[in-house]
Amino acid sequence: MNVLVSGGAGYIGSHAVLRLVENGHQVLIVDNLSRGHREAAAVLESIAPGRVAFEDCDILETERLAGLMTSHRCDAVLHFAALAYVGESVEQPLRYYRNNTAGALSLIQAAEDAGVGRFVFSSTCATYGEPPVDQVPIAETCGQSPVNPYGWSKLMVERMLIDRAGQARAGGSPFAFAALRYFNVAGADPEGRLGEDHRPESHLLPICLEVASGKRESMTIFGDDYDTPDGTCIRDYVHVIDLVNAHLLVLEALEPGDQRFYNIGVGRGYSVLECIEACRRVTGHPIPVTMGARRPGDPPMLTANPDRIRRELGFEARYTNLDEIIETAWRWFQANPQGYGPEAGSGR
Ligand code: UDP
Repeated sequence: MNVLVSGGAGYIGSHAVLRLVENGHQVLIVDNLSRGHREAAAVLESIAPGRVAFEDCDILETERLAGLMTSHRCDAVLHFAALAYVGESVEQPLRYYRNNTAGALSLIQAAEDAGVGRFVFSSTCATYGEPPVDQVPIAETCGQSPVNPYGWSKLMVERMLIDRAGQARAGGSPFAFAALRYFNVAGADPEGRLGEDHRPESHLLPICLEVASGKRESMTIFGDDYDTPDGTCIRDYVHVIDLVNAHLLVLEALEPGDQRFYNIGVGRGYSVLECIEACRRVTGHPIPVTMGARRPGDPPMLTANPDRIRRELGFEARYTNLDEIIETAWRWFQANPQGYGPEAGSGR
């Protein structure tokens, strides 16, 4: 297949491109480099010369995108390009609706204009909001009621996709989509070719590794008074390789008219304290911590019930052990202490 990957220079998108070319597909990366790294795309171009192309293009540029899809004869879109910080979305909601919601609309429109009928969307467990404890682990049937603009900006896209698929079923141009609701994504390419490089970093595991490596002196635990066994928040950490494998399975299974929703997680949770302890074990370094206040908008416990994708597509996460996930991230981190370089991805 010829696949357009929006956000293909970012953390998850770049790993997806790698898996696509390993599976024999051709890829056009579209990225505005606001969060992604040109260097990551260059790594991919060198791994699969002639099978990866890169365009510095914003997903709001509908006409240009449609032209690119036509000239590259695209069969499918994998849509990763998005802003993904809950706190930032509260501070700058319109920026999130513009980039994540209007941007997705523009890309869906471009796909329609260019006759591209398969679409895989990076959604999020943040669309569930704070489900009642008796609904955790969360199944896809759980009600969706986001508690921040980030979650809303993604849920609105799910709605648009449902209606676009409905139009296709009613005789419009063919369209099938899947929305994958990610839990916490972590780890890196085990061969060390790609990794996670966010600026600034706000995620728990990379911050632990920055402290372990001496890049930061210490870190703060955001609250230890939650109603969980050790008082800190629990999350479900899925390896980026498992996540992109799920994308490939879904992409290859999509039939015209499909609308599919899948949770992507491992189905088991780790607390913040357990994560820090695991990072100490893997790196062999002490990780000094201070106890801080709760971070607004953090639900106490988010874990996935991943049964649907297991049942329907036979998906099994390969990395079910947190230490192994951290090992792959640590390997890339040690080999690339400056990430993709001192100047990379400083944003614009
Ligand atoms: N967290 C923390 N200290 C940090 C960063 C994160 O205690 O410096 C906690 C955060 O409050 C949450 C968990 O770690 O409970 C996972 O946060 P992350 O930002 O990695 O992912 P999120 O679940 O928000 O998507």
